[in-house]
Amino acid sequence: MLAWNMAPVNVLNAESIAIFRDALEEVLTDERCEGVVITSARREFLAGADVYTIERLMSISDVEELYRAVWSLQEVFLRIETGGKPVVAAINGAALGGGYELALSCHYRIALDAAHVEIGLPEVQLGLLPGAGGTQRLPRKIGLASALPLILEGRRLSAREAYNQGLIEALAENPSQLIEKALEWLSTSPSAQNPWHDPGFQIPGGPIYHPRNAPLMTGAIAKAHEKTQGNYPNILYALSALYEGLQVPFMKGLEIEAAYFVKALQTPSARAMVRTLFVEKQRLDKLPHRPAGVAPARIEKVAVIGAGMMGRAIAYVCAAAGYDTWIKDQSPDIARGARTFAEKILRQRRDRGRLTPSEAEAILNRLHIAASYEEMAGADLVIEAVIEDRPTKNQVYREIEPYLSERGVIASNTSTLPITSLASVTSRPERFIGLHFFSPAERMPLVEVILGEKTGSEALAWALDFVRQIGKTPIVVRDSRGFFTSRVFGTYVREGLRMLLEGVPPALIENLGRKSGMPVGPLALADEVSITLMYQILRQTEADLGRELTEDPVRVIGKLFVEELGRPGRKGGAGFYEYPSDGQTKYLWPELARHFPVREVSPGLYPDLVDRFLYVQVAEAWRTWREGILLGQADGDVGSILGWGFAPYTGGVFHFAEYIGWERFRRRSAELTEKYGERFQVPLE
Ligand code: NAD
Repeated sequence: MLAWNMAPVNVLNAESIAIFRDALEEVLTDERCEGVVITSARREFLAGADVYTIERLMSISDVEELYRAVWSLQEVFLRIETGGKPVVAAINGAALGGGYELALSCHYRIALDAAHVEIGLPEVQLGLLPGAGGTQRLPRKIGLASALPLILEGRRLSAREAYNQGLIEALAENPSQLIEKALEWLSTSPSAQNPWHDPGFQIPGGPIYHPRNAPLMTGAIAKAHEKTQGNYPNILYALSALYEGLQVPFMKGLEIEAAYFVKALQTPSARAMVRTLFVEKQRLDKLPHRPAGVAPARIEKVAVIGAGMMGRAIAYVCAAAGYDTWIKDQSPDIARGARTFAEKILRQRRDRGRLTPSEAEAILNRLHIAASYEEMAGADLVIEAVIEDRPTKNQVYREIEPYLSERGVIASNTSTLPITSLASVTSRPERFIGLHFFSPAERMPLVEVILGEKTGSEALAWALDFVRQIGKTPIVVRDSRGFFTSRVFGTYVREGLRMLLEGVPPALIENLGRKSGMPVGPLALADEVSITLMYQILRQTEADLGRELTEDPVRVIGKLFVEELGRPGRKGGAGFYEYPSDGQTKYLWPELARHFPVREVSPGLYPDLVDRFLYVQVAEAWRTWREGILLGQADGDVGSILGWGFAPYTGGVFHFAEYIGWERFRRRSAELTEKYGERFQVPLE
C-alpha cells in the first residue's frame, strides 16, 4: 500500500513526485508484492500540482525543456499503468487535477462515498488543461460525449456523481470498507491492464470520426467559442488535444496532450489566472490582513436579521458552517421561508451525494427562526441584512444591541451605505464592521470586509475568522461609498447605459459586453441588480452629497424606466428585457429602439466598445487604490473576479495592465480618455 501523507496537504511537486516514483519502483520490483493500493493518510486523496510547481513550469522559457518537465510526470503515471502489477486507487478524499489523473492511470478506482470527496479535472479554470494524461485516458475510459464537458468545464463531482458517470468503478461506505474492497479487487485481478494499450482498442461510443461523434465535436467547438469569446486559448488547446489525440494510438495521444499543455502554460491568460485565482487567492485565504496577536474568534451563536434574498442565504451558510444560527424578519412568513430555502438546498446536496442525510439534518437543526430579539440573546455575531434603508437599519441596531454577547460584533451586509455612519448609532462602533456578501450568497465565494473608521482589530479578526469558517475568501477594504466592489462594478453597467444613450444597438452592447469577458451583458445586469435600486442609490447619493450627478446615465435612464415606463428590472417582470410569464427565454424589449434611436456602428468601432467596458472598470479601480480604499492590489484582483466576474483571463482589475502589457495599457487608456472622457484616465502616479 502506498499512502500519500504530506503536510499540510497532499500535492504533486518535484519532491513528492520523486518520493512517490521511488516508492512505486520499490513495490513494483518487490517480488513479494502482488498488487498495489494507492491511497492517502490524510483527509484529501491528492490535489494536483502545487503553486510552486506550476510557477516553476511557467518560468521555463525553453520549450523543449518545458516539454521534458511535463513529460516526466506522464512517465511516472505510465509506470503505474504498465508496471506489470495491478494497481487500484482507494480514493478517500479530494482527487482533483493531477490527483485524479494519477487515479486514471491505475487499473481500478474505488472512492469513499462521503461529502468531502471531490473528483474532477478543474485545470481549465486556471487557464490550463489536464496535462498528466487526463485528456487521453478519460475519453478512452468513458467515451467522448461524457468526457468533453468534464474536461472543458472542469466540473468537480461528488463520489456518487463520479460513480454514476463512470469516472470510478466502485463506492465504499467507510474507510475500512474502502481498503477491504481495494484488496479484494487486487486478489481477483492479478493481470489487470488498461485497455487502451491494446492495439485493437476501441473508444467507448466509437472513434472521434464516427458519424455519431462528429457532431459532438462540432458542437463542442461552437459552444467553446460562444463561452470563451476567444479569450481562453486553453479551451481550444484542450479541444485540440482531444480531437488530435483520440485519432492516434494512446502513447502518441499523450505526446499531443503534453505539447498542448506546454502551449497553455505559456499563454498570458494562464499566467494571469494562476497568479490571481491560485496564488493570490490562497494567500488571501491565509488572512494576511488579520491583526496579529488577537485570539481566534469565539463565535458560537450567529443572529441574522432580515430574511430576504440575502439574509436567508447567509443564515444557511452560517448553519452549514457549524454555527448555531438564528434568523429574524419583520415578517414571520418571510422568516420561516429561510428554513424552506435551506431545506431545498440541503435536499439537492443530499441527492447529489454531497451530504449524508444525518449531516443535512444537523445543519437544519442549527437553523432557528426567532420570533423576538430575546431569542437571539447571547449572539456573538449579528449580521444585519434588512432593506437598504438607513432608518430601518439604525432601528435594528438599537433593538439588537442589548442582546449581543459581551464581546459580540455587529456586521452590516449593506451594499452602499458607509459603515462609519451606520456604526455611529451603536454604542460600540469599534465592534461594528461591514460584511458584504454577493448574491447568490450560498454560492458566491467572496466576502468584502469593510472597515469603519472606528472598527477595532478584534472585530476585524473575528470577521476574518468567520469568513474563513464559512469557506469563503475575504478581501478587506476601507470605508467609502460603494466600497470597492459595488463602486467599480457599477462603472460597467453605466458604460452600457451610456452606449444605449449614444445609440449603440442594445444587442450589440450585450454581445460586446460578453466579448470583453464579462459574464453577462450590462443591460441584463442592470435588470438583475434592478434599475429601481440603482436609481434609488443615485438619489440617495445626490441627497447625501447635496448636488446633482448630471453626468450619471442612471439619472435619465432611471427616471424613464422607473418613473415613466414602470420597468424596474427582472424582479418587477420588465426592464431592458422582456420576461415572458410562460417561462420562455427573456429577450431585449423591442421598444428600446423607440426610446433610444440606434445609429449605424461600424465593426471598426467594436474594439473601442469592448475596451471601454474593461478600461472604465480598471480606471475606477485605480482611483479606489489612489484613495487608499484597498489594503492591497491583490484584494482588488481577487475581489473583481470572485465578486462580479471581471474578465478572469486578465487576472483582475489591477493585473489587467500586466496582462495587456504596461506600455500598450498606458497608450490605450490615454486614447480612450481623449476620445471618450476623463473616466478613462488612470491615475497611475
Ligand atoms: P430583500 O428586500 O430581499 O430583503 C430585506 C428583508 O428585510 C425583507 O425580507 C424585509 O421584510 C426585511 N426587513 C425590513 N425591515 C426589517 C426589520 N426592521 N427587521 C427585520 N427584517 C426587516 O433585500 P436583500 O436583497 O436581501 O438585501 C438586504 C441587504 O443586503 C441590503 O442592505 C442590500 O443592500 C444588501 N445586499 C444586497 C445584495 C443583492 O444582490 N440583493 C448584495 C449584497 C448586499
